[in-house]
Amino acid sequence: MVPLAAVRGALPMNRPLIIGAGIAGSAAAIALAKAGERPLILERSRETGDALCGGFLSWATLKALNQLGVSPETLGGHAVGKVRIHAGGRIAEARVPAPGMGLSRHRLDTVLLDQAIQSGAAIERGVAVRSADATGAETGDGATLAAPALFLAAGKHGLRGHPRPAPGSAARDPVAGLRQRLGAGPALAAMTGDAVELFLFDRGYAGLVLQEDGTANLCLAVHKSRLAEAGGQPERLLEQWRGQSAALAARHDAAKSLGAIDAIGAVPYGFVAPGSNPDAPWKLGDQAACIPSLAGEGMGIAVTSAISAATSWQNGEAAGHWQAGFARRLAMPMAAARTIWWAGESPRITALAVPLLGSMPAITRGIAAMTRVAG
Ligand SMILES: Cc1cc2nc3c(=O)[nH]c(=O)nc-3n(C[C@H](O)[C@H](O)[C@H](O)COP(=O)(O)OP(=O)(O)OC[C@H]3O[C@@H](n4cnc5c(N)ncnc54)[C@H](O)[C@@H]3O)c2cc1C
Repeated sequence: MVPLAAVRGALPMNRPLIIGAGIAGSAAAIALAKAGERPLILERSRETGDALCGGFLSWATLKALNQLGVSPETLGGHAVGKVRIHAGGRIAEARVPAPGMGLSRHRLDTVLLDQAIQSGAAIERGVAVRSADATGAETGDGATLAAPALFLAAGKHGLRGHPRPAPGSAARDPVAGLRQRLGAGPALAAMTGDAVELFLFDRGYAGLVLQEDGTANLCLAVHKSRLAEAGGQPERLLEQWRGQSAALAARHDAAKSLGAIDAIGAVPYGFVAPGSNPDAPWKLGDQAACIPSLAGEGMGIAVTSAISAATSWQNGEAAGHWQAGFARRLAMPMAAARTIWWAGESPRITALAVPLLGSMPAITRGIAAMTRVAG
């Protein structure tokens, strides 16, 4: 394939290009701008939305954000001190290793992008990139931009030439991500409190955490075979899960309002970009790896990959070499996250494990620590 920079008429630039103004893209822009570069972000949406995400920022993610100059006080989210696990009527609770935060993606993405612009980055909105390699990008309207480095931070969205195959159970039985916004209410605040709550079911889970304004995101990850048993209808699946968990039903009923259910299909949980391809761009965030969302570390990977890649590029390292090293760094937390995800969606295992976790909270704390990448 011809490198995009060599395409006749390619617009040469002396600034690094970043595809996507989500967490990874903005974090990379901040890191690069602070190091004296003038990165340009290309973002396909015209406004910052509220991405489909649980909104739980782990203590390790907060630490990584702090390295970029974004302090927890600036973010102003809802403090999270506990993890509470519900399965088959049993409950296990443990303190998290250090305080985390519940925060809407609209707020986080806005703060990060503002910081990137203040640090010297530029953004062009409404530009959808069609293809990208190590040397540049081709936009949807056919323009080609050549850049000294290209950071691919397109998140959940696929880009031609950069497949993200899911391994294991997510390949055999793909996983959908769903989100319903719950309106703020005192009863919901009293029930969930300062916990991130996980409700475990056969072939899926729901996660809940309060955000900065008392609203909550109820996020579901569910295998398609299970969704099919609910007629392929997320509303019916939620109704069935409410029937199996009085705690989930109580929180759902306590919400002031219930939003529509948004969905993304086939999240490639367990994918890790292997690296070592000299023609590939620097792949960040969900393009670098997709950790099972039950672990609550996807945003940590986004920030950490961005800081690490920006530093490595500045130090003259090759993208493929860095990517392979980052994949090695992910191996342990990813294996731990895949194991707890596999265990968490098997009712026979959770029937034994949740009472054990209830009596030995140190195990939950240990697992929470093992699944961190950031920090
Ligand atoms: C159900 C669910 C719940 C989750 N809950 C949590 C949680 O509680 N905690 C946690 O840490 N992680 C969670 N995650 C994971 C987390 O949401 C992701 O890891 C994180 O959003 C990755 O950030 P990113 O910057 O890589 O991508 P994104 O945030 O998806 O940003 C990508 C950006 O690129 C833009 N873009 C895409 N394609 C193009 C293109 N072709 N041209 C130009 N721009 C483009 C998009 O518009 C977007 O702005 C969850 C994931 C799911 C599916």
